[in-house]
Amino acid sequence: VVIFIAYIFDQGQFLDESTTSISLRNKGLNYGLGFFEGIRAFWNEEQQQLYVFRLYDHYLRFFHSGRSIHMDIPFSPTQLAEWTIQLLRLNNIREDTYIRPICFKGSDTLRPNLTDPYNRVMIYETISHYLPQKELKVCISSWIRNGSNMIPPQSKTTGGYMNSALATAGAILNGYDEAIFLTEEGNVSEGPGENIFLVRNNQLITPPLSDDILAGITRETVMTLAENIFHMTVKEQSISRTELYSGDEVFFTGTAIGIKPIIEIDRRMIGYGQEGPNTKRIRELYNQITMGKHPNFMKYCTPVY
Ligand code: PMP
Repeated sequence: VVIFIAYIFDQGQFLDESTTSISLRNKGLNYGLGFFEGIRAFWNEEQQQLYVFRLYDHYLRFFHSGRSIHMDIPFSPTQLAEWTIQLLRLNNIREDTYIRPICFKGSDTLRPNLTDPYNRVMIYETISHYLPQKELKVCISSWIRNGSNMIPPQSKTTGGYMNSALATAGAILNGYDEAIFLTEEGNVSEGPGENIFLVRNNQLITPPLSDDILAGITRETVMTLAENIFHMTVKEQSISRTELYSGDEVFFTGTAIGIKPIIEIDRRMIGYGQEGPNTKRIRELYNQITMGKHPNFMKYCTPVY
């Protein structure tokens, strides 16, 4: 008989998940006071190795997410990265997986106050699929992206995902796969859990951080690959809704979905209604790199075993 114990990391200890609990009165739960990360690890069958993609960069963003919302944590990005590797080993993960570090207000008092001292940090891993494995038909959401003076869009705050969830629900209920947010000024921002790219005349264009996007790690990787490997011109500049409709290629990027072509926006066909050549070559290279199959990009891959 094999007994599978799903370990999680909770405040400096590795515990069997079934032995942990969270109070109904927890402030993080009641008010959405917290922040998190989404990290992926990829199984390389030939090498019998699990690689975590840009592990340290995710924990650096985690750290800064907390700092902007008065939730400093007493663990360094390096420490958290080491514990993550230990967690994957303890659970003996030998397939692609998703890792979720989360920090939430641990106290049970009523006032929605971020300066309460107790911040609880946990890490769990989960094997799950996110968006459908196909090319996407999306809509512009009637929900506006959280503005920088509302909920910091560059922090991955738990509460901020109400905004994402409303846009996702709107898209699904109207028969689309996913939504695209505009900013309050009307510029293209990002998806509920993805950054967005436009290809026009062989240039790669993506909204700047000032258009209320998360500084996506996949986004940054794609910009590096497009510039250094494919010698494309890469620009961070505001994009209007109409520019998006007339793009040659449009795609989403994100840890959970990787690189995903968008073939229709608001019932308008994009390009030839199928994945474009730039999206394809960037996606294929990205997939190779994440599995530790590209010698020049091993710096992005942390081996678990
Ligand atoms: N924007 C939002 C709102 C997200 O939740 C995510 C997923 N983390 C992204 C963009 C993509 O970021 P990354 O490539 O770092 O996963």
